[in-house]
Order: sequence, then C-alpha cells, then structure tokens
Amino acid sequence: MIVMKFGGTSVGTPAAIRKTAEVVAAARDRKPVVVVSALSGVTNQLLAAAQDARARTAPARELVRPLRDRHRRVLGELGLPRRLVDPDLAWLEEALHGIYLLRELTPRSLDYVASFGEVMSSKVVAAHLSKRKVPAKAWNAWDAGVVTDDGYTEAAVLPETYPAIKKALAPVLGEEVPVVTGFLGRTRTGERTTLGRGGSDYTAAIFGRALGAEEIQIWTDVSGIMSCDPRIVRNAYTLRHVTFAEAAELAYFGAKVLHPKTVEPAVEVGIPVRILNTFSPQDEGTLVLREVPDAGTRAAVQGLAVKRGNMLVNLTSTRMLDAEGYLSQVFEVLARHGVSVDCLATSEVSVSMTVDARYAEALKGATRELRRIARTTVSRGRAVICVVGEGISTVPGVAGRIFGVMGNEGINIELISQGASELNVTFVVRDAEADRALHALHATFMGQASA
Ligand code: ASP
Ligand code: MG
Repeated sequence: MIVMKFGGTSVGTPAAIRKTAEVVAAARDRKPVVVVSALSGVTNQLLAAAQDARARTAPARELVRPLRDRHRRVLGELGLPRRLVDPDLAWLEEALHGIYLLRELTPRSLDYVASFGEVMSSKVVAAHLSKRKVPAKAWNAWDAGVVTDDGYTEAAVLPETYPAIKKALAPVLGEEVPVVTGFLGRTRTGERTTLGRGGSDYTAAIFGRALGAEEIQIWTDVSGIMSCDPRIVRNAYTLRHVTFAEAAELAYFGAKVLHPKTVEPAVEVGIPVRILNTFSPQDEGTLVLREVPDAGTRAAVQGLAVKRGNMLVNLTSTRMLDAEGYLSQVFEVLARHGVSVDCLATSEVSVSMTVDARYAEALKGATRELRRIARTTVSRGRAVICVVGEGISTVPGVAGRIFGVMGNEGINIELISQGASELNVTFVVRDAEADRALHALHATFMGQASA
C-alpha cells in the first residue's frame, strides 16, 4: 500500500481537486490511503476567526460566512451537493459563538475550531472521488485510530495509535479509498487536537508507518526539493535523491517544501518519502531516504540554501581568554530576552552569531546588557548561505573550494560554521552579495549536472 498526502494547494480549487482525483485514480491498484490538508488558506482563516470571535470583531455568523461560501462554491463547481459540509459549518459557528460569548479562547478551543478545515476537505475530496467512480470514504483521523496527548496546538501522537490505525484501515484497503484528515487527532478523553502547523505531513508519516507502506507520497505544488531556489539560479534542478539529513538542512534555511521532522517516523523505519507535483504528476520528484543508494559516486555538494535578512552580532572581549562561564553568560542574556541564535562561531576573544530580523527588538534589550561584558556590534542585512551534501564530510577540500570561489568573486565572508553533522558548510555574507555567491557556487559544484 501507499500513503498519498495532498497539501492545501492540491485541494484548494475545483481544478486542483480534479487533478488530485486523477492522481489517486491512477494509483488505485497500489491500495492508497489518502491524507488531505484543509483547502489552501482555510486553517489560517479558521485561526483568525477564532481570534476575531474572542475579540468580538464580528459575530460568529459573519465569521463563518466566507468559509461557507468557499466550500459551497467548490462543491457546486464539482457538481456535488452544496450542503455537504453544512453540518460541520453549523458546529463551527456554535463554537465561534461560544468563544464570542465567553471572550475566552483556550488552546483546546483553538484546536477544535482549526479541526474543521480538514474535516471538511476530506469530505469534499472523498465525495468527488466517489462521483468519479473511485469509491472513497472520508475518515476523521481519530476514527482511523489517531490518539494524542493533550498538548493542544502541538499534540504528540501516542503509541496506541499505530495498532489502532491498522485495525481500522487494513480491512478496507483496496476496496474504498480512505480519505483521512491530516493535522488532527483526539485525546483519550475525546477532545480534538492538532499536531502543529503543517501537520498533515506528519499524519501521512504516521499512517505510512502504521500500515507498513511501500512509500509515502507528499503531493504538493512544486516538483520536489531543488538544488537551489530557481528564482535565484535559473538552471537549478530537482534533486532525485536526498537523505533525510540533507532535506532537514535544506529545509531549515531554504524552500519549505516539507518539514523533514514531520516525516521522521516513516524515514526511521526505512519507508521512502517521495515529493511529487499534483500539477505536473509525470515529474519524477524527489525521493527522501535514510541513506542514498549512490553514495559512492554522488557529488559532495547537493544543494544550496539561503536565508536573508539576518542580523550579525559580534562580541569581542579579552575577558573570554581563559575565563569559564563567559559563553554561558552571553547565552543567558540572549535567552532571557527571547533571542534565538541560528549560526555561531567563536574564537578565544570573539563570538559571532546570526539572529533572525524578527528578533530585532528583543536584541536591542540584549545588546544593552551584552555591552557590559563585551564590545558588541550588530550589522543588519546579512544572508546565511548553507552548502549541503552528505559528501562534505568525506570528500576533502570542499570547504576550500567554497571559500576559493568566494575569494574569486571578491565576496567577503563574515562568519563560517560547520555543524557536528559535517553535512553542511554555512557562512554569512551581505544580503546584496548573496545572489552572486549562489550563482558562483552553483556553477562550480552543480554546473555540470544541470547542463
Ligand atoms: N492545514 C494545516 C496547516 O495549514 C495542516 C497542513 O496543511 O499540513 O497547518
Ligand atoms: Mg500545508
């Protein structure tokens, strides 16, 4: 069997739902379990509606209206009963009215409200599949076995989930296609929970593992993980195979095709995860594996990722020489101000680190204190460039080549760090020079492969 997960854009319009159904119909003999996200944008809308209800920005009836209109329009255009999800919308409206009356929004209520996105999308997709002669049935994740703890908005799946999924779905596989709500679960006491934003990939991994899937397919609106952002490097190409660790490095700074942590339960037990494009289904996509099959012959560098708009913080102090506890002092200050550090490099007398621009305010407070223990400078507009590939740890000279390229380009490097995984070399340049750095690196390391 296989698990096929379709993200919000793959179920966001009638045209997309038709494409999704074609893809599912073509895979029927592989006994698919389908996992769906909410229609694109709907989760955000639901969360905003819950906040608006609490703030009494508008009555519940009005908050539900755009969601009702959108789902009815999609159903109507697909020739399905326009009232198919009206009962869910009625429950949603009652919940929002409760929040409105009490002016109180707990994480538990937030999850209850958010759950309706997937509850409705699964019904729409199952109804459309059945109409086009692919017998299908919508399943709420909890009816299909998903049990979580009560960590609302970021609940953890409990171990009893795995046998429960098997018990619920194994008997129907190959008969009607189960269309399961992604992102959702339920506590042992019956409260609805969510698994965290983007949680449908996680749902897919859980079902894949529970049912021993041959493969988990993540259907999205791009054709996989790329060697670099194609908006920057025109001849960037789709990576055929990446390891789980490479995908994790690339996702951190780069394109958010898939949050690799979410598919860990499947990759751990060796189930391959394939990223595919609903709108270009013949593309091969990217296969995410625990280990790549061609490790020996593969290029050392696989991908380049970039994150712009960082602040570079430099601390210099001779106090650090032979002093214990200096770094812990620095990080204590940063932590207390809620500043999160991305990259870090230290020497005997200095510390350099990058901080995302969204911490600009918090960093101001922190620098005021840091100036008491070190000369502190903050530069804005810095880009973190991350060069990723399993081979970086085994092929000598990769770092040398990277910095040689930067030297030839006359690009100044302000911080260099290599994590313990040795899977990446990360460095910082000015934002304005990031594109040029990426072009040069891509031409040097991936030029051939893309020709
Ligand atoms: N609909 C949820 C979200 O937007 C889950 C998902 O799409 O994976 O976060
Ligand atoms: Mg999503």
